[in-house]
Amino acid sequence: MTENVIQWMGLYPEEMREELGKLGEKPFRAGQVFSWLHKGARFSEMTNLSLSLREKLSQSGVDQPVEIRQARVSHLDGTKKFLFSLMDGNCVEGVLMRYRYGATLCVSTQVGCRMGCRFCASTLDGCVRNLTAAEMLGQVQCANRELKEERVHNIVLMGSGEPFDNYDKVVRFLRLVSHPDGLNIGIRHISVSTCGLVPQIRRFAGEGLGVTLSLSLHAPNDEIRKQIMPIANRYTISETLDACRYYLEKTGRRIVIEYALIDRVNADEQCAEELAKLLRGMQCHVNLIPLNTVKERALFGVTEDQVRRFLDVLEKRHISATRRREMGDDIEGACGQLRKKIMREENP
Ligand code: SAH
Repeated sequence: MTENVIQWMGLYPEEMREELGKLGEKPFRAGQVFSWLHKGARFSEMTNLSLSLREKLSQSGVDQPVEIRQARVSHLDGTKKFLFSLMDGNCVEGVLMRYRYGATLCVSTQVGCRMGCRFCASTLDGCVRNLTAAEMLGQVQCANRELKEERVHNIVLMGSGEPFDNYDKVVRFLRLVSHPDGLNIGIRHISVSTCGLVPQIRRFAGEGLGVTLSLSLHAPNDEIRKQIMPIANRYTISETLDACRYYLEKTGRRIVIEYALIDRVNADEQCAEELAKLLRGMQCHVNLIPLNTVKERALFGVTEDQVRRFLDVLEKRHISATRRREMGDDIEGACGQLRKKIMREENP
């Protein structure tokens, strides 16, 4: 994809006005183009625009930058896993889950990832490139098209990529996806998950967005965390949780702590006790996820019994925690990152 091709869906209304001006069009057209694109329309479908404008638009750039290459449906619960194709031939995954409280889409923010977490399949080949805001929006558009009557109601940025390693585009996406003239998805229905880039967590607190912040903690101390997450060599758990407390203070939003239970690494009762101590007094909710085994790295998940025991310790110590329900168990295959686990952050 060349740099000078405009991805129209990724523009703010004022930027759209400016670009349309360059094409010799009246600024008020921006409202129409914006609302069409965010309804998922192609230029050719924008029937209240002149043919010549539609032509100019398609010559200058793209309308819907993402397509579904493949969709697999779970016969167990209707969860859909997508392989989305981008215009440069790259692919990312997405998962659509149907809950009582509405459809939830797991969105990718990068092709691959460079954080290097040992248990994560998305990072195995490093990061290929950042996704643009339009490409994140495009994933939502694709899912909406599949849903027909219903619409994506909740978004979790938990697909491939580290959202805060692509900070500006992610923030742009969040503003656009929640825009009242666009998809208008409530900011309270959006979660951003990070492995813990401390400066970005603090910066994000000041964006005035108030989305739910999920921290992929996965360890009760720095020693264990360093074994599985390279980011732990850059920031200590203490610094990271301080940044999360700051986020909480600024936004009033409770933090979600993600903890993937890995056999013989972080899953015994002593780890649970240590985790409880670490989180004492912090307004947070712990999501326990039995690890999706990543054979390449010889890391394995845990039994139901181990999850139960870990959870019991947290409950005894009055730490709010749940085990993530599994969905789409029959369609996950070798997927390490886009998980089959239900996202219970919003209604634990
Ligand atoms: N980079 C971000 C968001 C993408 S990963 C982050 O680190 O939070 C979304 C979640 O899936 C993270 O909590 C991540 O740690 C978790 N995850 C990755 N691989 C997993 C696996 N094999 N089993 C269970 N959870 C996994």
